[in-house]
Amino acid sequence: MSDFIVIGNGPAGSRAAFTLKEKEPGSSVTIITREIEGCCHSHLLPKFLEGTITENELFEISYDDYISKGVKLRTGQSVVSVDVKKNEVLLDHKEVLPFKGLVIAVGGKPRIPEPLLIFKDLLFTLKSFNDTKVWKEKLSRVDSVLIIGGDLTSFAVTKALLNIGKKVYFMLNEDAFWPLRFDKTLCEKVSSRLEERGVTVLTGSKFKGLAAVSEDVCRARIGDQEIETGMVGAFFGLAPDIKFLARSGLQIDRGILVDEYLSTGHNGIYATGDCAQIYHPELHDYWVSIGTKNAKALGELAAINLLGGMEKTEMSKTKIFDVDGVKINTSWWMDY
Ligand SMILES: Cc1cc2nc3c(=O)[nH]c(=O)nc-3n(C[C@H](O)[C@H](O)[C@H](O)COP(=O)(O)OP(=O)(O)OC[C@H]3O[C@@H](n4cnc5c(N)ncnc54)[C@H](O)[C@@H]3O)c2cc1C
Repeated sequence: MSDFIVIGNGPAGSRAAFTLKEKEPGSSVTIITREIEGCCHSHLLPKFLEGTITENELFEISYDDYISKGVKLRTGQSVVSVDVKKNEVLLDHKEVLPFKGLVIAVGGKPRIPEPLLIFKDLLFTLKSFNDTKVWKEKLSRVDSVLIIGGDLTSFAVTKALLNIGKKVYFMLNEDAFWPLRFDKTLCEKVSSRLEERGVTVLTGSKFKGLAAVSEDVCRARIGDQEIETGMVGAFFGLAPDIKFLARSGLQIDRGILVDEYLSTGHNGIYATGDCAQIYHPELHDYWVSIGTKNAKALGELAAINLLGGMEKTEMSKTKIFDVDGVKINTSWWMDY
């Protein structure tokens, strides 16, 4: 039996695991992660896409670090449910693992808005190292990309695509800048900067349809225009990846509901990073976090509190803004 199980090996999960081991060296700590690879710097994925950094530079923590710090890493394994009464997790290969303490740090997955789900098979998203490999393979065969959505990642990806000589169409509408609030002035500014760099910007139009013409050509209908492109990248932000917890007894809304100490209210079970929805006593409401810096700080806090600490998440009211009724704090903004 592992004393502590951490689900997820992103910045929140890995920081939680290393903190647990550091503060309680005699304990056994196991990270379970769906990915085959280690914890990667997500913000460097666009750079890897354009080929300016190597695979090695992409990874934040080497396998040797886990070994030398005594943290057991189980890669390529998914948790499919959590039993909060028995303190057990069930893995996809039917193994049951008991725990004394659990940190859930499963992060987010690319969000596709409901009306676009019918086109899902034709849309490319970018979250993991593996997604980037899929993009690279496709880009070796196509010359143009249509970007829809326009979250913060999409600007970095657009820059990478231009750097490798691809033609980019960019659909800029009210979904742009997610999770930041759409702003008309910012939209105009970004639109003209994209155009200066040779991007074809499509503003104010509705996405009406998408069809595959051949393996490497798609036809998109946007407003009254038709655009032929090699691939379509969907960038609508990240949503917590917590469907597998629906029957667990944990309280779930947009994310896993936790108090200001990151406790789920179940003994020894904490949630942290992008998948947590955290109570703010002054706002009398929950907020979610997006961004690597926040994720690391929250991972550390979850570990400290799991070990008996009583440290509150500190988030000033002014750093939190409302997007479609969800209070969001992001440690993340990038220049384009
Ligand atoms: C392309 C891209 C660029 C970004 N750029 C920036 C940036 O410049 N600055 C910034 O601050 N933020 C950036 N972000 C956001 C940042 O990466 C996230 O906010 C951060 O990674 C969240 O950390 P996390 O540990 O909460 O979750 P994640 O990093 O999402 O990690 C979740 C982990 O959980 C695992 N997992 C999920 N479900 C299961 C399961 N059921 N069983 C087992 N394992 C599971 C996953 O395999 C993964 O290891 C970027 C994100 C992307 C995708």
